Amino acid sequence: MIVTVASGKGGTGKTTVAVNLAVTAAEAIRATQLVIAPENPENFVELIDCDVEEPNAHLFVKPQNVVKQEISTMVPAVDMALCTLCEECEKICRFSAITMIAKKIMIFPEMCHSCKGCSMVCPTGAIKESSRVLGSLLTGQSSHGFNLTWGELRVGEAMSPPLIKQVKKTITCRSGRGNSISEDINNKLSIVDAPPGTSCPAVTTLRSSDFALLVAEETPFGLNDLALTVEALKKLGVPMGIVINRADSEQKGIIDDYAEKENIEIMQRVPFSREAAKICSKGLLLVNELPEMKQCFKELYLKIVSRITQNAKESKYKKTFTKTATSSSDNSIVGRS
Ligand code: SF4
Ligand code: SF4
Repeated sequence: MIVTVASGKGGTGKTTVAVNLAVTAAEAIRATQLVIAPENPENFVELIDCDVEEPNAHLFVKPQNVVKQEISTMVPAVDMALCTLCEECEKICRFSAITMIAKKIMIFPEMCHSCKGCSMVCPTGAIKESSRVLGSLLTGQSSHGFNLTWGELRVGEAMSPPLIKQVKKTITCRSGRGNSISEDINNKLSIVDAPPGTSCPAVTTLRSSDFALLVAEETPFGLNDLALTVEALKKLGVPMGIVINRADSEQKGIIDDYAEKENIEIMQRVPFSREAAKICSKGLLLVNELPEMKQCFKELYLKIVSRITQNAKESKYKKTFTKTATSSSDNSIVGRS
């Protein structure tokens, strides 16, 4: 099951929620492995950081044995000796990445989406494939019992979606909405940290998620950006819930009113505390440092489990998570460090 942690704006604490949720889920599954007995309990949870322009989950998770590989994408290269200047390539490119200027075919690699349309329509075979480096893909193991994968966009690279797609290809959970949930389950929980906003990078990340956890702050700006993300998710057809981060109190505020109007569940309120801010600024995990945060994320995890079981009633996955949740309710999880 792919749970994507998203937010309409940066700085809401999205990564804080993603990393602490991943640690909580991994602890839960380790504590209940005898109950659910997945094939490989150590790899039940994985964390994927798709915020490739500013990845920072690794600063909290501190993965070991990191493997890094360069990621490139296809861009066209024209052999002018074969080109007849027919302009068919320019006509098909909706991104204006290939055009004819002064009887010469020019290519703008940073605008190319690697669709290969130009090479397919070229009548003379003048367009060959070249490549452009997008950035890096990194994978490492955390000491909390899960793998972290993240992307780092090359400095100066304008387009992050192609790299995000490469990072998403590493998701080992195969129960995404692109597949049949009941047929393609492998008992995995993939927690994905999305880029902020509602533009192409965020939408590319959220597409095919089973559930979106929207991290919001109780300010007018926070509400505005949350509403934009909700509208995008409605179009994508992704179920969602809200986490209010740095909540001032238990009292209802503008996010609660909006959520009630939109019929979206408030899944948790992570309370504001100066101590929590200090812990995050040092790159430490809230669930390891503050008992009340451990409880807070445990409750959030169990609510997500409950929603997932609701959303996948007919699946084998439901059985797995139901057992986890039942065992967790007996206080048998999230007590180990
Ligand atoms: S590969 Fe696609 S996006 Fe790139 S130049 Fe050709 S037609 Fe345009
Ligand atoms: S489609 Fe091929 S032949 Fe026609 S202008 Fe483009 S590169 Fe030249």
